[in-house]
Amino acid sequence: MNVNQSAPPVPPFGQPQPIYPGYHQSSYGGQPGSTAPPTPYGAYNGPVPGYQQTPPQGMSRAPPSSGAPPASTAQAPCGPATYGQFGQGDVQNGPSSTVQVQRLPGSQPFGSPLAPVVSQPAVLQSYGPPPTSAQVTTQLAGMQISGAVAPAPPTSGMGYGPPTSLASASGSFPNSGLYGSYPQGQAPPIGQAQGYLGVQTPQRSAPSQASSFTPPASGGPRMPSVTGPLLPGQGFGGPPVSQPNHVSSPSPQALPPGTQMTGPPGPPPPMHSPQQPGYQLQQNGSFGPARGPQPNYGSPYPGAATFGSQPGPPQPLPPKRLDPDAIPSPIQVIEDDRNNRGTEPFVTGVRGQVPPLVTTNFLVKDQGNASPRYIRCTSYNIPCTSDMAKQAQVPLAAVIKPLARLPPEEASPYVVDHGESGPLRCNRCKAYMCPFMQFIEGGRRFQCCFCSCINDVPPQYFQHLDHTGKRVDAYDRPELSLGSYEFLATVDYCKVREGKLLLSFPSPFPSPPAFIFMIDVSYNAIRTGLVRLLCEELKSLLDFLPREGGAEESAIRVGFVTYNKVLHFYNVKSSLAQPQMMVVSDVADMFVPLLDGFLVNVIESRAVITSLLDQIPEMFADTRETETVFAPVIQAGMEALKAAECAGKLFLFHTSLPMAEAPGKLKNRDDRKLINTDKEKTLFQPQTGAYQTLAKECVAQGCCVDLFLFPNQYVDVATLSVVPQLTGGSVYKYACFQVENDQERFLSDLRRDVQKVVGFDAVMRVRTSTGIRAVDFFGAFYMSNTTDVELAGLDGDKTVTVEFKHDDRLNEESGALLQCALLYTSCAGQRRLRIHNLALNCCTQLADMYRNCETDTLINYMAKFAYRAVLNSPVKAVRDTLITQCAQILACYRKNCASPSSAGQLILPECMKLLPVYLNCVLKSDVLQPGAEVTTDDRAYVRQLVTSMDVAETNVFFYPRLLPLTKSPIESTTEPPAVRASEERLSNGDVYLLENGLNLFLWVGASVQQGVVQSLFSVSSFSQITSGLSVLPILDNPLSKKVRDLIDSLRAQRSRYMKLIVVKQEDKLEMLFKHFLVEDKSLSGGASYVDFLCHMHKEIRQLLS
Ligand SMILES: [Zn+2]
Repeated sequence: MNVNQSAPPVPPFGQPQPIYPGYHQSSYGGQPGSTAPPTPYGAYNGPVPGYQQTPPQGMSRAPPSSGAPPASTAQAPCGPATYGQFGQGDVQNGPSSTVQVQRLPGSQPFGSPLAPVVSQPAVLQSYGPPPTSAQVTTQLAGMQISGAVAPAPPTSGMGYGPPTSLASASGSFPNSGLYGSYPQGQAPPIGQAQGYLGVQTPQRSAPSQASSFTPPASGGPRMPSVTGPLLPGQGFGGPPVSQPNHVSSPSPQALPPGTQMTGPPGPPPPMHSPQQPGYQLQQNGSFGPARGPQPNYGSPYPGAATFGSQPGPPQPLPPKRLDPDAIPSPIQVIEDDRNNRGTEPFVTGVRGQVPPLVTTNFLVKDQGNASPRYIRCTSYNIPCTSDMAKQAQVPLAAVIKPLARLPPEEASPYVVDHGESGPLRCNRCKAYMCPFMQFIEGGRRFQCCFCSCINDVPPQYFQHLDHTGKRVDAYDRPELSLGSYEFLATVDYCKVREGKLLLSFPSPFPSPPAFIFMIDVSYNAIRTGLVRLLCEELKSLLDFLPREGGAEESAIRVGFVTYNKVLHFYNVKSSLAQPQMMVVSDVADMFVPLLDGFLVNVIESRAVITSLLDQIPEMFADTRETETVFAPVIQAGMEALKAAECAGKLFLFHTSLPMAEAPGKLKNRDDRKLINTDKEKTLFQPQTGAYQTLAKECVAQGCCVDLFLFPNQYVDVATLSVVPQLTGGSVYKYACFQVENDQERFLSDLRRDVQKVVGFDAVMRVRTSTGIRAVDFFGAFYMSNTTDVELAGLDGDKTVTVEFKHDDRLNEESGALLQCALLYTSCAGQRRLRIHNLALNCCTQLADMYRNCETDTLINYMAKFAYRAVLNSPVKAVRDTLITQCAQILACYRKNCASPSSAGQLILPECMKLLPVYLNCVLKSDVLQPGAEVTTDDRAYVRQLVTSMDVAETNVFFYPRLLPLTKSPIESTTEPPAVRASEERLSNGDVYLLENGLNLFLWVGASVQQGVVQSLFSVSSFSQITSGLSVLPILDNPLSKKVRDLIDSLRAQRSRYMKLIVVKQEDKLEMLFKHFLVEDKSLSGGASYVDFLCHMHKEIRQLLS
């Protein structure tokens, strides 16, 4: 039946209209605009005036003028949605390389003239014969981009260091591009002919400063060019030579004119090390130049552990050229940390300990500080003064995930019940009792560790102290011995809404939350099969609502609404034989037409709910309605929760831009021409303030909104995501949704989302000890003052990032303390406080801070900072700010912490040696530097996602994992070691998985063995593999099983389902895949890692000069 028909032949919900006479007049009657007599709503099939009015008012049965008619819009706009799904259809819509390539020049990141051809500045190689005496250093401590070794500074200007032998050569690159010429080996030669040189494993034999492993490739075919001046365009390491397959990146890397090297003269240029291994051809490197042997990653740094800041003098990298294997490798760092820190549990008893990396699997033992699963900091050693902090420019921030899920081996926080007296707090600053409070006077008083206030210990809490001044019951009380625990909250912590809570409930405690499912039943939702799929799924999913601890059934009640341009509410009271529908067409003044029977217990009302879910797809099967409303839907859900006096969550399933006449109506304002203009920020701003206002009301009600979007075209994610964002909700987007292609992903996300434990009506406060305070907050929440983070809902995936600033001097002895207190209502309606404490060290030497930083957390903060900044500043300005800040951080280290060395050396602190590569990934991400195929909605979507990501998620999102599948023995059960995200790491004889937490690709090299093809795809040759395939056939052989298991395991590690896309080498879809090879130059103009490092070096030198 078609809902839009005014006289449906068969009433699905046979209730006669008169059943609801009571509602209309008194409370809801007289709605403005409702000229109809009694009720603005009515039983579904009754001739309800309010309902019948709609058609005349602009509703048409014909396929809509307003909405997106079916097939026509379905495909086109959906293109290769990087964040949507890559359906088969995407193949056709794959980005055109031509177009993108054209974007290149204009989008050069650093605005320097670009040399079209000289891309691979493998400059070094070309200069004459290798030096005779090379100094070999361990290179463990530092990295040198340009040679301190070169004898003669070439010309003037900034440079990357002294030229090696042929200074004159530098002059011959007048227009060599991006960073000017790299006359002397500074240049990062991506395409170097490494095949000819030995990558010398720096025999740490000669740990002196200038290192040298780098034998510039002076041999080999390039020899001829070595001495003579180069012609423009005659790059040494041009891609063609070394990277035949590297079509996508012409990566010009020369210095802009005027930036020549001027490094101080140095020792003679390096030479090949004696043991020039003749160059082992990299096993998986059949593409292009072999780099170092992959599996050993970065052979030049065998013991990279001390690279950088560690106490020892930082040691420079070899001069001369930037061998990609010689620059810090994320893979190596991750691997080292796994090996060094993955075996022992991380015990939190010691103040200021830097935890293992997020990529390392480790167990945590809480001995007084919160687990890194709850809190991670940018630095675990804070400068004592704000002057020091300003000098270093290292943001002081904590990424907090208050309800983080723990592995099964770790216990959830204990719940402490202090009875009616409630948790013990400091009288002055209100900090909660914690292990750092100091008991004095025999235990009768305690001194607050946050504000130093002396407080009396209440008699019921009194306990004697032992000879060390510690309470004898310290280890019996979680709040005296653990970093994380919970308190049961008392009445004082319960929210009083509009003054009626105490009156309306026998108990002031909150009633259990409710979930309301609000389903778009407009034409698009029906056509794609979404509504049928969803209704079918809900029938079983409702058995899995979150429940408290060991509770047998969930306390959560559920309700249902469907909508297009009007709303349909359903009475699913258990006593009814059939569900009843009430239609509200007055969307301008939304109200809830029923109270009793709208929110119900699933078990009690199962039969009615099942009947409803069976009928919904049928009822709207023939709908022609394409217009939708959006804000009124949220308003309705929020009003329903308000009427039921509970908190809860709305699950909205929405398909299109809400253009129907109603509050929150939107227009299509997408405009790609704004990209790279000062107005680009408007693309990220909501187009109306109505949603902020609505969100504020939702937060007051504890109404969290999760939004599932199924757009065929622009839906203005920037505006639609405002309410989810401000209420602690989530947004999911399935572009061009088709049941057959996308149901697995959608259902998987839905199941996880519905089942996850949520805290409702939450307020988070971060207290700090004297000297620092929380000044800024990033995440999905609302703030009505400067200290309280309000979250209508908070789940175990969401983080809140907090930035701190000094307001006084810190003390090395006492350190700095953080206490995060989250007040929330559990799924069962219990009001609780979750407390996390963390103690940090303070230092008077910057070196101590640089030794205790965590780059992954720093990147998490910087990305969130930048992604928020794009709302108000031009994107380019935001990128420049990040670059400058990074340069300042590294320059400060160089100036204050590193041993003296040539300015030509780039020296990175050990803990931050990946800062440049990771920051570059942020800079070239779709939000800050979009490719041609990235839509405005994609950017808004990602921007919104990143805001709530934890450190592990940002880590893999910005630097994807690339796993070779056929290198390791087939019987190996561990994950294969990753390789660096660069095309040159791909072997065309292998198969790889790439994942970033949202996307998952299986890349198949063109020369992969036929047996592998057969085992994985059940076809006989590479050419028969279907590009864009999203499911691997289930085949009974070890390789197939191994790969499918690995895919399952990767998916299980991520909070969102990653749809698989099979990409064949040289296929059109490969362009999408290459987008994620983040060490390479990107089509949108993002610099390669090597280029960026050189640029960073230049910036640092400028700051130091
Ligand atoms: Zn205090």
